[in-house]
Amino acid sequence: MLEWFAANARDLPWRRTRDPYAIWVSEIMLQQTQVKTVIPFWNRWLRELPTIEAAAKAPSAKIHKLWEGLGYYTRVRNLQKAAKQIIAQHRSGVSAERRKLDEIKKCGFLPKAATMPVLKKFQPETPHVVSCKFPEKFDDVLALPGVGRYTAGAICSIAFNQPTPILDGNVIRVLTRIFGIAENPKEKESNKLLWHISEELVSHAKTQSSRRKNKNFAVLASLREENSCSHLNQSLMELGALVCTPRNPQCLICPVKKLCVAFKENLTEELPNIGKREAATARHFVAFIIERNGEFLVQQRPIGIVNAHLWEFPNFETNGEKKDARGIFDSAFNFKAAKFQPLCTVKHSITRYRITLEAFRVQLPKHLKTLGGIWLPRARFDSLAFTAAHKKLASFAKNCILSDR
Ligand code: SF4
Repeated sequence: MLEWFAANARDLPWRRTRDPYAIWVSEIMLQQTQVKTVIPFWNRWLRELPTIEAAAKAPSAKIHKLWEGLGYYTRVRNLQKAAKQIIAQHRSGVSAERRKLDEIKKCGFLPKAATMPVLKKFQPETPHVVSCKFPEKFDDVLALPGVGRYTAGAICSIAFNQPTPILDGNVIRVLTRIFGIAENPKEKESNKLLWHISEELVSHAKTQSSRRKNKNFAVLASLREENSCSHLNQSLMELGALVCTPRNPQCLICPVKKLCVAFKENLTEELPNIGKREAATARHFVAFIIERNGEFLVQQRPIGIVNAHLWEFPNFETNGEKKDARGIFDSAFNFKAAKFQPLCTVKHSITRYRITLEAFRVQLPKHLKTLGGIWLPRARFDSLAFTAAHKKLASFAKNCILSDR
């Protein structure tokens, strides 16, 4: 697996650093999100907020804007909470910049300065700032908000080369197939077994590198000694992403096919045994693009609900029934619109929900003042973080309303 990883690993930006902060950000972004989606978000985040201190101090609107489109916004709020916790509990007295350059030097890959925002940002002349240090102990990492056992294991192995196991969807698929585990991996006993296997593998990787060094694998082994746990865990993730895929795994080019029970016994379709997926649920909403004097009404979602802090146009769920949008508007706002017309329908999927948003353009008399929310000129739509469905709506409304002027 280590040799396969060395030859086949994708050149991902967070693989060019051993900076635990950068690796932590990548791991949080990668929860529930694909690699290709995360790359531009990660680059932008590291460019705008290159240190733990910067992430801790950033205004709420800024972190939500940087996360806009990634979804699961509790992740970004937890990330900031955790950054504040690190500052409160792990002050180091070492400059953030010095530490970052040292961590970059330790990296197993050769960094390309031109493609690496962290390097470009941290030149040696950057002024010295006393700062905090990312915790190295597994239990301290696990204690951070938003960090579970998988994420703590990934950070400690990738950033500090500790033999800490990982187990996510990709790794579950790879391990259940290689070891022929037929039980549902979510069940307590099989889950425990999978964590145990993952731990054995990463611990073995650590001993393997020193043994090889003794046998004169000097260059390769010295790289591995620095990275063997990191690379073993990443090789499991990478095999799951590139070769041992959910459908049509490419067993013929797989580095572990000779050991793999699922391959030998033709069980790749059956494993992992994750039971039936939850059925998709349709949800219908009406939304109102309310215009007054060239500005549009937007409202911020309150704390404590999904997509809290994000912005949206006023909207109402209709429980799947085709309802009279005009009637909903009149009773919600208690006055008559000057103009009311259908604008567009937006479809959006999130987890098991298939959302249909039917939008209407509403024009109000100039004198009308408050409706709860803020009035925003369309040129400023991009300054706020919208929920994904309402971002689509904002962009449609912007183009459509512009074109009819
Ligand atoms: Fe997955 Fe096939 Fe490799 Fe087994 S041989 S680990 S099923 S890709």
